[in-house]
Amino acid sequence: PLVLGIETSCDETGVGIVRGTELLANTIASSMDEHARYGGVVPEVAARAHLEALEPTIRQALAEASVSLDELDAVAVTSGPGLAGALMVGVGAAKALAVSLGVPIYAVNHLVGHVGADLLDTAAPLETPTIALLVSGGHTSLLLVRDLVSDVELLGETIDDAAGEAFDKVARLLGLPYPGGPEIDRAAVGGDPATIRFPRGLTKPKDLERHRYDFSFSGLKTAVARWVEQREAAGEPVPVADVAASFREAVVDVLTAKAVDACRELGVPRLLLGGGVIANARLRELAAERAAAAGIELRIPPLSLCTDNGAMIAALGAQLIMGGHEPSTLGFGADSTLPVTEIQA
Ligand code: ATP
Ligand code: MG
Ligand code: FE
Repeated sequence: PLVLGIETSCDETGVGIVRGTELLANTIASSMDEHARYGGVVPEVAARAHLEALEPTIRQALAEASVSLDELDAVAVTSGPGLAGALMVGVGAAKALAVSLGVPIYAVNHLVGHVGADLLDTAAPLETPTIALLVSGGHTSLLLVRDLVSDVELLGETIDDAAGEAFDKVARLLGLPYPGGPEIDRAAVGGDPATIRFPRGLTKPKDLERHRYDFSFSGLKTAVARWVEQREAAGEPVPVADVAASFREAVVDVLTAKAVDACRELGVPRLLLGGGVIANARLRELAAERAAAAGIELRIPPLSLCTDNGAMIAALGAQLIMGGHEPSTLGFGADSTLPVTEIQA
């Protein structure tokens, strides 16, 4: 089926078009620049930017795919989780589009969409069961995906800051611009990750009892802040490269260790990575190393499919159709806290 997908859960206005698992268009407008001076995504600014960007982005996607509106078999849209106001813009537009075209609409889960992105990576399409580690500015989740359209389980998630958020906050206290992830990656080049042993959140035996697959990054952020303050108070220069490398190592050490442990302990031979933090050079390196050592197949879709996009939402919609699932009824709304087990709203 030819499906157009709309994604507006955060700061990317994404419109994608797929035919089954074939990617025809993946168009993205981002309001990232508008948030830069605030050091993070401002919900009202994001919602307004979606409102302005959606129509041109839909047009551009149709042109990119060389299809016209009346050829579409269905519309898919992210209904949650995400920023309520931002989600509402996409949901409203998708409903209007579906009703005016007389096609079914599929309201889908953003996090499961991230997993569905892997279907479009044609070199070797998604296989299940798989463990999925999703890391971005808004979430840090470890999933067990037994079946993409019918069986997704949340193994763990962050209990405070998301990993990308931690990168953004630590970059800020090191005087680096937003978004902080790529800045820290760059600053860490030439730094020694062994200089400072920053804390690994929720890895102590007593924490593991309750939080086996959960993450925590706010203690790490505080530890970096304190370390930097002490250096400054002593009148010593802050070795930015070493701090960046040591911080990055602490984050990716925990992410990769818990993800690979989940594969091993649950007997799942593959691990899928998704979300904007997957751009991190050290995360890719350490994940590859540890997966190989554990005999686990590591899958990393291209970055354009890892960050928020409409193509992954269209791909999940197409899977629901091909799996014989009924469309969503028009009563659905934006649900900022939609649980990952609800694949379709
Ligand atoms: P959502 O959580 O809904 O997916 P988002 O817009 O916050 O939304 P993405 O756009 O997928 O998420 O990712 C952005 C985040 O990824 C930012 O926090 C950014 O700092 C982080 N990031 C980007 N590149 C890197 C990198 N090289 N290393 C670490 N973090 C990175
Ligand atoms: Mg984003
Ligand atoms: Fe996302």
